[in-house]
Formats: sequence, structure tokens, C-alpha cells
Amino acid sequence: MGVPLLDLKVHHEPLQQEIMVVLEQIFKSQTFILGPEVGRLEERIAAYCQSQYGVGVTSGTDALLIALMALGIGPGDEVITTPYSFFATAGVVVRLGAKPVFVDIDPVTYNIDPAKIDRVVTAKTKAIIPVHLYGQCADMGPIMEVAKQHKLSVIEDAAQAIGSEYSDGRRACSMGTIGCLSFFPSKNLGCLGDGGMAVTSDPELAERMRILRVHGSKPKYYHKLIGGNFRLDTIQAAVLNIKLNYLDEWTRKRQENAIRYGELFRSSGLLDRKNVRLPVPVYRVPGVRHYHIYNQFVLCVDRRDALVAFLRQKEIGVEIYYPVPFHLQECFEYLGYREGDFQESERAAKETIALPIYPELTMEQQAEVVEAVTAFYM
Ligand SMILES: *Cc1c(COP(=O)(O)O)cnc(C)c1O
Repeated sequence: MGVPLLDLKVHHEPLQQEIMVVLEQIFKSQTFILGPEVGRLEERIAAYCQSQYGVGVTSGTDALLIALMALGIGPGDEVITTPYSFFATAGVVVRLGAKPVFVDIDPVTYNIDPAKIDRVVTAKTKAIIPVHLYGQCADMGPIMEVAKQHKLSVIEDAAQAIGSEYSDGRRACSMGTIGCLSFFPSKNLGCLGDGGMAVTSDPELAERMRILRVHGSKPKYYHKLIGGNFRLDTIQAAVLNIKLNYLDEWTRKRQENAIRYGELFRSSGLLDRKNVRLPVPVYRVPGVRHYHIYNQFVLCVDRRDALVAFLRQKEIGVEIYYPVPFHLQECFEYLGYREGDFQESERAAKETIALPIYPELTMEQQAEVVEAVTAFYM
């Protein structure tokens, strides 16, 4: 029958009436930029993230960009981050004239390995960007310790991790200096286009980002800073204000789906044969609480490329996040990294595969996915 990687149609259908009502109101008002819907969303998202201020922006990429701009990061500065993420994480650093410095990932969580950060800190280092990849918080305790020791800012790339919690219960975007969210349609909280938000508990940084969002002007046409157009649309904010009411329920369904995949794979025999390794929803510290919001459900597998081809032929939607780590990207050749520099990232790029995990995925669809994976190996 086939199973899509993501089914936005079934996701949005039950909300259509509710969304159309606010779209009509906005159409009547003819105010399309920022406005009360954006302000309301900023307050609600900041609170949801256990933080103080939200600044609604054009995308997750721009949330990262504006965060770095607010921190004054530019030419001559170095920013430490992971080589294994969506391009934007490193792209924004370079766009501001700064240099990304990569640190390999932990092979179990796929997040930056905090133990390896200290050794690349230099006098030029200004910030660390940990990514909460796939919806699982990076190991923020030791990351914040290194940052404190060297007086570095920490920008959490929480584009895939809204509502995700660290082992101590703190939420993504509440632990670093600034947290960045994306509302791209495939994220756990997505709008009907592009959108994002920068979240912080620092009132001065929040104000700076608000000014940067409108070309650095305050009041209008008087420019304190050189910013850009990073404004979030009223329509997107209104849609997000509706969808936010359902986010916890969707997250719970994703988590239930993850548990069900776990059960199905355990009974498939593939785990014992070591063809498949499940995402690890626990830190390796025994007894430590864990919370994953499963923006993606990512397996580490044998003969990955052949499996991908096999599943696609069976019309099972799968994706590779991400096939090429940053240090091997053509555009970053000038940084001078080589193959072998970040072995865990390189291995993850070769061995991982994302399966459908969206909230509306049915038990039958999950069984079909696992049966297809099993058929490939058995
Ligand atoms: C999606 C994503 C971004 C960028 O968000 P956009 O809204 O698409 O600009 C940044 N970082 C990570 C890890 C992402 O997954």
C-alpha cells in the first residue's frame, strides 16, 4: 500500500475549519505583518519553552542568523558546532563572516560530543551551537559548563526539538543564551509556509533581536543597527496559535509510535541480528530521565543504501538526514577538513535512515514499514 514519510493532508484536515476562520478574519483586517497574533504566539512559545521572550521571525534559519547577529558574532570569530545537522546550522555562521569549528557527535545520540568541545576552544571562540537533533536534547549539562568556563554564548538549534526536555526536565531553548525554533511544515509545530522563532530569557538580547528583525530600526526609519527583514507573517502566527493547542497531543502520538516501532523491531529479530539499531531514548547514565519528541525516528542500519532503495521501491517514505556531513561539503572545502576527521558523523551519514513517525501514522502502517525492513534482511 505504501506509507508516506509525512502526511500533511491528514495532519491538517481536522484543523481546516478552525484555520479558515482566522484566515478570513485576517483577510478582512488586511494586516499581514507582525501584529497581535505574533505577539501572542511569542508569549505562548516562550512559556512553552520555559523561557521569557520570543521573537517571531521568517524561518528557523533566520532565527539562528538573528541570534548570532544579536550576539555580535562576525569576522574573526569562531563558532563551535556539530558537522552533522541541517545545513543552516553552519551556513549562518559563515554568512556573518565567522568561522565554523566542528566537533564530532556522540554515536548514540547523534548530538555534539561535549567531551570534545574544550580542545577546540581558542581565543577567537565566541559561541557554541549545539543541535538537538531529531528531537532529542544535546547533553546540555557539560556543554553549559564548558561555555561558562570560557565565557561563550550558547545558541540552541532547537529547530527539530520544540518541547524536548533535557534529563533534568529543562526544555529546549531554556538552557542556552538563545534558542532557535523552526516552524517549517515538517517540524513538530509547523506553519503553512516558513516561520521561526528565537527564544531567550535575556531582555536585552530579546530587544536587540526585535530591532534587528525590522532592519535594525527603532523608532521606524531610525537605524541603530544593521538588521534585515526577518518578520513573521500574521497569517503564519495565527495558524501556529491554533496548532500549538494540539502540540502536546501530537508529541505524545509520536512517542507512542516510537515505542511501537521498538516493540515491532524487537519481535522482528533484526535487533538481535544487529541489522538494525534503534534510536536510544536514554542517556547512557543509568537512571537518568529522558524525553525525546521524535521529530525524526532514525535507525542505524546495515547496508543502508540498498535498504533505502528497497523501501522506496515498496513506496515506503524514508529519508537520509543527512548524507554529507558539513566538513565534507564542497562549499566548506576552504575550511581544510578531510575525510576521517569526524568519524562518527561520517558513519552516521552512511548508516542512518529516517522512518515515518508522524502523529497520524497508523498501527497498520507501522507494521507495514517494519515488515518491509524485515523482508529486506531476512
Ligand atoms: C529545519 C532546520 C533548520 C532551519 O529551519 P528553516 O525553518 O527550514 O529555516 C535549522 N536547523 C535544523 C537542525 C533544522 O532541522
